[in-house]
Amino acid sequence: MTQPTFAFSPHATPVEASERAGRIVNPGFGRVFTDHMATMRWSEGKGWHDPQITARAPIVMDPASAVLHYAQEIFEGLKAYSLDDGGIALFRPEANAARFQRSAHRLAMAELPERYFLDSCRELTLAERDWIPGGEGSALYLRPFMIASETFLGVKPSAEYLYCVIASAVGNYWPGGAKSVSLWVSREFTRAAPGGTGDAKCGGNYAASLLAQSEAIRQGCDQVVFLDAVERRWVEELGGMNIFFVFDDGTMLTPPLTGTILPGVTRDSILTLARDQGITVAEERYSIDQWQADAASGRLVEAFACGTAAVVTPIGKVSSADFAFQIGDGQPGARTSQLSKRLTDIQRARSDDPHGWVQRIA
Ligand SMILES: *Cc1c(COP(=O)(O)O)cnc(C)c1O
Repeated sequence: MTQPTFAFSPHATPVEASERAGRIVNPGFGRVFTDHMATMRWSEGKGWHDPQITARAPIVMDPASAVLHYAQEIFEGLKAYSLDDGGIALFRPEANAARFQRSAHRLAMAELPERYFLDSCRELTLAERDWIPGGEGSALYLRPFMIASETFLGVKPSAEYLYCVIASAVGNYWPGGAKSVSLWVSREFTRAAPGGTGDAKCGGNYAASLLAQSEAIRQGCDQVVFLDAVERRWVEELGGMNIFFVFDDGTMLTPPLTGTILPGVTRDSILTLARDQGITVAEERYSIDQWQADAASGRLVEAFACGTAAVVTPIGKVSSADFAFQIGDGQPGARTSQLSKRLTDIQRARSDDPHGWVQRIA
């Protein structure tokens, strides 16, 4: 065994075993947190230093910390799964590590070496192994993030950063299981423009999406789907999930990575698995008018959204100010279910893993 990278100072009063067991039975999403967190700091001159795993606690910072004013913040999301044989696995953590570096670059932040990202995720997961829920659809959700921590109100890249990983026991993202979701097409608001930060995983993109998401909810829909910012015509993605379409000839389509769409690890995994099966998947633009026409003609038979948190989510209905249409019979489709099962079987090490995506850590 190699020496841990992150110095471990155990929590003096961790949550009692019986209390913990109760909390992780039906944890929902993002509300049940573990005892510890991993942290590391960067400063100009010193570089990356002080890797630690300590008791999870409030972050003390000066009210003039740069992140609070200019939103220099990025994050990641990945899951640790408990396996049937008692082992623990992470799914494609190197992909998250690489994306974290790209996001940092785009936000003019210090890039965390891949090794520190991977070690922080692995070592925190091992410290919190008793928090990993076992149930179907459950996992330990890891949330690495980085904030600009310099105390300075001038507008420039921060000279100090705090990297942190917290962990949350999660169940199914959608309370009540994988029903189909309904989407609201936002006409007024866009998520990302060419040259902007749409392909970086930064909190600012989410802040910009929340008003549109509120509008979706007000309109009786579950999620917002965004169109491109230039022509207001091309389907891009949901607030936090990529999107796929399935046609009656068996082919599939997902919008291309043009810089305004977040390159999802789940998107890439689904693309790869579908192509492994011999399915033709186009990465092409798809217009909202075509979507509506194809749903009406029956050429479009299924659509689904995908991301780490909710994995694969069937789309049942699509509404806008001037139309509403249903996809297929509004129920989860066969291809959606098959690809979803293939992916989750790999994540849980229940089937072959031809691309070496599952990283066993215990
Ligand atoms: C994180 C995220 C996704 C999904 O990415 P995964 O790597 O599959 O979890 C999709 N869209 C946005 C905007 C995201 O932030």
